[in-house]
Amino acid sequence: MNPIRNRLLAALEALKPLCYSNLKPAEEMWISPGSYEWKEEFDSSILNWESFGRDETWGGSDRHYWFKTRITVPSDLKGAQVRAVLNTGATDIWNTDNPQIMVFFDGKHSGTMDMNHQDFIVADHAKEGETHELAFYAYSNSSGRTNFFHLEIGAYEEEVAKLYYDLAVPFEAADLLEDDDLEQIEGFKVLSEAVNRIDFTRPHSKQFFASIKEADEFLMNAYYKDRPENPVTVHSIGHTHIDVAWKWPLKQTRQKTVRSFRTVLNLMERYPEYKFMSSQPQLYEFVKEEAPELFEEIKEKIKEGRWETEGAMWLEPDCNLASGESLVRHILYGRRFFEKELSGSVNEVLWLPDVFGYSAAIPQIMKQSGLSYFMTTKLGWNEYNQFPYDTFVWRGIDGSEVLTYLISTKDYYKNCQPSKGYSTTYNGRQNPKQIMGTWQRFQNKDVSREVLTCYGYGDGGGGPTEEMLEQSRRMELNVARCPKTEQTFVKDFFHKLEEKLDKKAASCMGR
Ligand SMILES: [Zn+2]
Repeated sequence: MNPIRNRLLAALEALKPLCYSNLKPAEEMWISPGSYEWKEEFDSSILNWESFGRDETWGGSDRHYWFKTRITVPSDLKGAQVRAVLNTGATDIWNTDNPQIMVFFDGKHSGTMDMNHQDFIVADHAKEGETHELAFYAYSNSSGRTNFFHLEIGAYEEEVAKLYYDLAVPFEAADLLEDDDLEQIEGFKVLSEAVNRIDFTRPHSKQFFASIKEADEFLMNAYYKDRPENPVTVHSIGHTHIDVAWKWPLKQTRQKTVRSFRTVLNLMERYPEYKFMSSQPQLYEFVKEEAPELFEEIKEKIKEGRWETEGAMWLEPDCNLASGESLVRHILYGRRFFEKELSGSVNEVLWLPDVFGYSAAIPQIMKQSGLSYFMTTKLGWNEYNQFPYDTFVWRGIDGSEVLTYLISTKDYYKNCQPSKGYSTTYNGRQNPKQIMGTWQRFQNKDVSREVLTCYGYGDGGGGPTEEMLEQSRRMELNVARCPKTEQTFVKDFFHKLEEKLDKKAASCMGR
């Protein structure tokens, strides 16, 4: 085993928990049973509350509970970015039945918590003695009372977190390369020199923070400055794929959408480069009915050019059993909603990441509806056969043609070992492993060096996370041999791809 690698791994594991300081359990927690009834404003005085201990559990199938606590900023958190961090005991990031929670800050729906989003920012620069009510509208779909409600309040140390990601992303990328690859050897050496500068002996002391600063400055100069441009770009779009009807009651889909879209907006405030796309007008209509204020905020983000409404169809429907008339109406009503209700741009993409099977009439229906581009991942979900193209022109029964793109996001594998199955994902993690994997799995490298990924947890997992956005920022800077990432709307990606392909075709024909 490579001792430098092991040392870097140990340093990263030691540094991660130090991104928080002074974490202490919240003072008394209260619980009250809830129902599907909720509003964007919450008055806690209307409920009967009972004290809820740290060793007590809650949960059950399709159940709601309210929790509340009061927090007062203590002197040791003065000036800090204060966060509430929740642990419900859930560990499986893909479990759609994990507790999912709306956070009410002084009576206003302000944030969301779930397995993948455990932090709520209470104050960016907290004042000593400031006091707030935090209430939580919690949904459980577990088989029994298996969840905790362990809430801790503490400081988030942004400089430590910055250094952590500055180290972790190039480490992960270099670690995927072969052991004799100079990019790995040189990379590990520089990262190790940065780690040497960290004073781990007295965490969160003055000396510690000075050492963090020094290590990060060193890294910025020795690693990130003037890196050679990677010729491959992975265009990245934030996404949360929500199955409108699946393993939970339909009315829960409404809440899953509200929570996920709230999470997107909150992260957009802190990551100005973050772009997000959601299809399925039905989801937006749910939000309009459930949370009209949130709906207005989404419209603002669409206007700002940060939120993309694409995908054309009202839902992402089955395309084998549905009639042609039904598919046409999906597009008609879908586009009408996007254009009229959201003043979104005119759709050009049919976005069906998770649909099993595609009628050969689709190109004709698309063309006659003014749609030029088709995207899915599901053709990759085959145990035995690999579909041989990821970028191609799909010709339908009547000869209509649409430019088609299959997202190729998958974990990178070393030594070109054949991986199990060919499946790719629309729930990308936006880490080096999957960004390098997106390019590795892409089968048309001869025609394009611009590929697409969409990242974020779906089905109530809340979409992209802070971690994904932090990782993406580093990958924009050409780390190791990881393709460069760029936040791009899906439609813009297709325009770029089409332009490249047109140029290639022209030069092939000697024009
Ligand atoms: Zn789905």
